[in-house]
Amino acid sequence: MDDLTYRLPQKRVIRTELPGPASRALTERRKASVAAGVGSSVPVYAADADGAVVVDVDGNSLLDFGSGIAVTSIGASNPAVTQAVSEQAQHFTHTCFMVTPYEGYVAVAEQLATLTPGNHEKRSVLFNSGAEAVENAVKVARLATGRQAVVAFDHAYHGRTNLTMALTAKTMPYKARFGPFAPEIYRMPMSYPFRDDPDRTGEQSAHDVIDRMEKQIGTDTIAAVVIEPIQGEGGFIVPATGFLPTLVDWCRANGIVFIADEVQTGFARTGDWFACEYEGIVPDIITMAKGIAGGMPLAAITGRAELLDAVHPGGLGGTFGGNPVACAAALAAIDTMRANDLPARACEIEAIALPRLRGLANDVDVIGDVRGRGAMLAIEFVRAGTTEPDPALTKAVAARAFDQGLILLTCGTYGNVIRLLPPLVITEDALLDGISVIEQVVRNTADDQR
Ligand SMILES: *Cc1c(COP(=O)(O)O)cnc(C)c1O
Repeated sequence: MDDLTYRLPQKRVIRTELPGPASRALTERRKASVAAGVGSSVPVYAADADGAVVVDVDGNSLLDFGSGIAVTSIGASNPAVTQAVSEQAQHFTHTCFMVTPYEGYVAVAEQLATLTPGNHEKRSVLFNSGAEAVENAVKVARLATGRQAVVAFDHAYHGRTNLTMALTAKTMPYKARFGPFAPEIYRMPMSYPFRDDPDRTGEQSAHDVIDRMEKQIGTDTIAAVVIEPIQGEGGFIVPATGFLPTLVDWCRANGIVFIADEVQTGFARTGDWFACEYEGIVPDIITMAKGIAGGMPLAAITGRAELLDAVHPGGLGGTFGGNPVACAAALAAIDTMRANDLPARACEIEAIALPRLRGLANDVDVIGDVRGRGAMLAIEFVRAGTTEPDPALTKAVAARAFDQGLILLTCGTYGNVIRLLPPLVITEDALLDGISVIEQVVRNTADDQR
């Protein structure tokens, strides 16, 4: 793995206790001003960040295996992005594409047509957040089909707005007492190889889902099936081979819009530009956000021209959607991903990390499964020798890794998954260092449980 160039040293350096005094002071100010409903994974405040390192306000350098939830794949201050942002901001920061359009928006849409799976004619719309992209994909599918029902899956995560809360599976913390939720959303079982019968194929799981959709919803009332090709917040669940292609074929045969939510899996994260490419599936609409613009807020939907162009003028949009500074950042980010072949780099990260994590799983009895693709890898923790989830141990592992200066994120319906989402530009040394911390922390935490 060749190193790229970085502004900050790509090393963990702990100078104070964690959190240090400056972070603790900010936590006090925060308590008096920021709503308690907004959580943070780690109790330190960022002052600087570059590559795979976040420097906090006390001068500690933390190694970042979360990328701000799969966003800063090319680093949090990639020079191509910072330059594009500053150049665009010196000309105009906003006109509103719905008032006075500009080239950046069109150029991003052209890039998305090229990068997303399928050679069909495509159209795109730009938004601010992943949730907004998913909402709009559903709006388009309903209008284009004249149908209302939308199918989502167990363990799904699609966002926090009203419609996307309804699509999201997990109640705590995302939905509990925030209802009523949007109607006409139906939930189907997900293929989850670690927890399914081991003899079950992806095709069989898909046929079960299809049978339920036909019997419980009615094929000709379904507008869309929405699915993450690898589930994110739900636990980095990779469905069994054949599950997704079987669903896509059935959707296509029945006039149902297949929406791939690639907000977390997109933009080189899984070793392809999009996770759908792995099994060669072509979604009708794809939703994107997170890694698209080097940390600037931008989201998009790209889909078949006949679906997107079915919507009347004025039916889609938003004041800030496709902001010119965010578009400039996206164009620079996409250039950088291409120039450095980041899909290949994600594969290199997998080749280094996955064997080490599998080795660790062989040595301890609290790891039920290690899975994932590219730089989207996960460890599922269980009570020793069982498949029973162990969220307490998972939390302890993340907390102890933080004490060592490694930012790790948890996820999963059962809260028992550690997810690895390192920046794709991470140096090999930093990657190996972070993996060593994980190995040591998991061994110690497992030992302490005996
Ligand atoms: C994060 C995420 C969303 C929501 O994106 P926001 O930008 O937080 O609204 C939607 N779908 C998936 C798969 C995600 O990972």
